[in-house]
Amino acid sequence: MNTLREVLASGAPSFSFEFFPPRTDAGARTLWNAIRRIEALSPTFVSVTYGAGGSSRDRTVEVTRRIATDTTLRPVAHLTAVGHSVTELRHIIGQYADAGVRDVLALRGDPPGDPNAVWTAHRDGFTHAHELVSLVRESGDFSVGVAAFPERHPRSADWDTDIRHFVAKCRAGADYAITQMFFRVEDYLRLRDRVVAAGCDTPIIPEIMPATDVRQIRRFAELSGAAFPEELAHRLEAARDDPTTAHRIGVDHATAMAGRLLAEGAPGLHYITLNRSTATLEIHRNVTNSRSAQHDLSVRP
Ligand code: FAD
Repeated sequence: MNTLREVLASGAPSFSFEFFPPRTDAGARTLWNAIRRIEALSPTFVSVTYGAGGSSRDRTVEVTRRIATDTTLRPVAHLTAVGHSVTELRHIIGQYADAGVRDVLALRGDPPGDPNAVWTAHRDGFTHAHELVSLVRESGDFSVGVAAFPERHPRSADWDTDIRHFVAKCRAGADYAITQMFFRVEDYLRLRDRVVAAGCDTPIIPEIMPATDVRQIRRFAELSGAAFPEELAHRLEAARDDPTTAHRIGVDHATAMAGRLLAEGAPGLHYITLNRSTATLEIHRNVTNSRSAQHDLSVRP
């Protein structure tokens, strides 16, 4: 199988979907329904987020392993340094290798409970993501991804510092990056320009979050630091008692963003699913249809 770097270098845009480990049996059924629907599209990869601790982490490993063994999908395992010694991280990476998982998204993570609290590294662990990138790299034949921040990481003092650290973790061995959610295409384009200007050509895949529920999105945006456009917020607020209209507004906004990102040369699209497939599949279908319509026009004599 080609590495993700090779796949991304092939020129065709990648498309991928992100899930989180479910907490209940009902949640697991919803997740697996979504995975099976998405599998039918043969995406480039799917990824599973890594929880803040304990059983949620075991579930991440279990879901990722099952995707590797029971489906035709390529799973990317998120892994964070939060609360882990290097020995524990090696053990988890080993579990992935045993299950045939060859792709890891290497993240530092945030302090559990409050992402804005002061970051404290494990006594025998890592302080920054570049160390985890190096560990995964030296642990075997893995392709490694890292996080990118279109509005810069909230803890970075300024853009120069942010880009310097981002480039350092790419040079530690990252094959690609995936962004934090964002809602303005210009933020992605500015980040990409800054990274290129710093001499780094690591492909940066934009993350697409369908904004169909204004309360949920505001909460996510607050946690991630992503600016949420007021105009979009007002339209969603106006439709707060009309889920069909809110769904349409969110899908249309994400479709427009996704189409523009691809037209601007983004290497792919990474959809946050929240373990449901309806909105993301709709956006993906819209983007694919509009691209093939453009292709038909451009090849017509
Ligand atoms: P780093 O690259 O280490 O950066 C963190 C901060 O430290 C930045 O301000 C950076 O500029 C600074 N820094 C980096 N290197 C140095 C250095 N050498 N010296 C000084 N400062 C430095 N979290 C989860 O818990 N689970 C997940 O599954 C998960 N998935 C994610 C997926 C994506 C696509 C993204 C974008 C984020 C995800 N996160 C997840 C959140 C992520 O863990 C947090 O945003 C975290 O705060 C930053 O992680 P990082 O890997 O970018 O850290």
